[in-house]
Amino acid sequence: MSDPRNVIIIGSGPAGYTAAVYAARASLHPLVFEGSVTAGGALMNTTEVENFPGFRDGIMGPALMDEMRAQAERFGAELVADDIVEVDLTGDIKTVKTVTDTYTARAVILATGSGYRKLGLPNEAELSGRGVSWCATCDGFFFREQHIAVVGGGDSAIEEATFLTRFGSKVTLIHRRDELRASKIMQERAFADPKLEIRWNSEVASINGTDRLESLTLRDTVTGETSDLPATGLFIAIGHDPRSELLTGQVDLDDDGYVLVQHPSTHTNLAGVFACGDLVDHHYRQAITAAGTGCAAALDAERYIAALD
Ligand code: FAD
Repeated sequence: MSDPRNVIIIGSGPAGYTAAVYAARASLHPLVFEGSVTAGGALMNTTEVENFPGFRDGIMGPALMDEMRAQAERFGAELVADDIVEVDLTGDIKTVKTVTDTYTARAVILATGSGYRKLGLPNEAELSGRGVSWCATCDGFFFREQHIAVVGGGDSAIEEATFLTRFGSKVTLIHRRDELRASKIMQERAFADPKLEIRWNSEVASINGTDRLESLTLRDTVTGETSDLPATGLFIAIGHDPRSELLTGQVDLDDDGYVLVQHPSTHTNLAGVFACGDLVDHHYRQAITAAGTGCAAALDAERYIAALD
């Protein structure tokens, strides 16, 4: 096995690539595992990104990620389009493995993100960025004066739905049961909102449209009857899962599986292991916040390595 690297970065979203830019510019020659399927992270699945600073006319998600990737490479980051399938992060020298190879490093930056839960319906992926969204903060603005549907019943669904009433002509919250899981205060806010209607005991049976979302077919969870809801926006707010399976038993996680860091730093409970982006973030979940903590992780790793030398 070759000598340990200074830094290995696992993940290639805004957090991983930003960490790579900073670590590369600090001459740490980072090795970045991008993942075999979704190199570039969550923004590869969207169209226009209008809220990443520096692009006054907006930029397509994949184009933004290509720029970040090229910027990391320009400064000498080594990029590998493969998945890490096993890690041992407990010792001074960390080990990470792909299916075929083993790599070691003095520091590891974890930036594997989190996945939005999907409904699992045909058309959901095809119409992502064309009416179907998982992020009201990111995309609400695109649906001004349109009929928007939101699926879910927890706090985040209610928060998304009430936020979206700023934009939509009407917002319909679709919920499988006849009561919400959301906190009382959130529920009261939702019930008092004249633009927000709740479709109880309902689930989305199909997502309809060819180039863009045109309507939803709803199924009554009690009677099984179906009906059409003409909506041009659908926000799916049924939760997200941090990609932290690899880390269980080594890095401290919270009850939902997010990596715990020593705020405001990116240090985990293990020396030399840093975490950033949506993998640690329940609250903001934006490309710019992921990039920000990716920068912090690289700076933390740089200082950690400098102290070892
Ligand atoms: P991710 O972008 O999720 O990247 C994680 C990366 O880690 C992935 O590439 C994955 O392949 C890789 N990975 C995971 N496990 C492994 C492993 N074992 N080995 C190797 N690699 C691994 N935010 C905005 O600010 N503006 C927007 O307009 C916006 N629009 C969005 C639209 C959609 C459809 C979605 C889903 C999200 C959107 N977001 C937007 C949110 C934003 O994309 C995320 O907050 C951001 O991408 C999080 O960055 P990250 O680097 O933490 O994780």
